[in-house]
Amino acid sequence: MIVVMQPQATEAQIQQIVERLEGLGFNVHRTTGVEQSILACVGRMIDFDLREIEVLPGVAEARRISSPYKLAGRSFRPQNTEVRAGAMGVGGRELAVIAGPCSVESLHQLSEIAESVAAAGARGLRGGAFKPRTSPYSFQGLGQEGLRILRHVCDRFGLVAVSEVMSETQIPMMLDTVDILQVGARNMQNYNLLRELGKVRRPILLKRGIAATIEELLLSAEYIMAGGNYDVILCERGIRTFENYTRNTLDLSAVPVVHKLSHLPIVADPSHGTGRRDQVPAMARAAVACGADGLLIEVHSDPDHALSDGAQSLDLPQFAHLMDELRQIAPVVDRQVTAATPAVPAHQA
Ligand code: PEP
Ligand code: MN
Repeated sequence: MIVVMQPQATEAQIQQIVERLEGLGFNVHRTTGVEQSILACVGRMIDFDLREIEVLPGVAEARRISSPYKLAGRSFRPQNTEVRAGAMGVGGRELAVIAGPCSVESLHQLSEIAESVAAAGARGLRGGAFKPRTSPYSFQGLGQEGLRILRHVCDRFGLVAVSEVMSETQIPMMLDTVDILQVGARNMQNYNLLRELGKVRRPILLKRGIAATIEELLLSAEYIMAGGNYDVILCERGIRTFENYTRNTLDLSAVPVVHKLSHLPIVADPSHGTGRRDQVPAMARAAVACGADGLLIEVHSDPDHALSDGAQSLDLPQFAHLMDELRQIAPVVDRQVTAATPAVPAHQA
């Protein structure tokens, strides 16, 4: 931590701060400049509250120089982490594309979507079974039946199953059915849930909260990792700003920032990030160009009749077209997109 003293701070005030910092366990190195004194403090625990110092007389500002997250930080692992789930790697050379409807609606609906997105090159199929809807009167998901459908369809088409876990009580049934557990934006700071997910050995897709800073996102990842589960995939899904043309503001600058601060992979969700189907392809292309390790894209066979998030869902041809575009962009940023294949269910191949 660096403590910058005010230009008018008295010698007595500076001495008081030095003693206070030493009392807190810091080693204090003082530099006296022409205008101000600067105190460089080393050697204390990382969760220190800067405001405890900032409010003391004579202090201009206190600034942290080491990160408050340890396991999620780059210094813990200088090389990138690749999280693996079945045939999909997130954080490696191959772009991880996870597609699917916002909600699992029926076996027929999910099968139709899965067949098409698998053929277009997606590796993961995401479908919500428990939906965190803003209104309690909106469709809440098929629950356990939705999970069963998701598992069945993923096995049939060789896809990695991704679904949202909304509470600790759902974890056992999730472990029985899905390959990656999603923590939604609304639960990013549900610390009891994060702690429980630290105990499982299954990848977690952690979405950024609508008003969360990048540091808060990384601290939430830290909660999971502190329990021993290091397989955390971060997701930028848009934050709430004053702009209301789009549903959220997709903060793509979070991608290079996270890559600088952390070894964890980060994917982008341009569907929730924009809330509009007409804006999704452009932001998906931009996400790949800025180095996202993967994409989470809502795709529906009949978006206009989807039970949730239809307006932001691509239809099947739109998704296939986007994948073709991504195949051209990916090599420029040293990435590769899975080849499109004729639609053949895995069990017939
Ligand atoms: C979703 O993924 O369908 C969802 C509800 O996302 P978020 O938690 O980012 O709002
Ligand atoms: Mn959705």
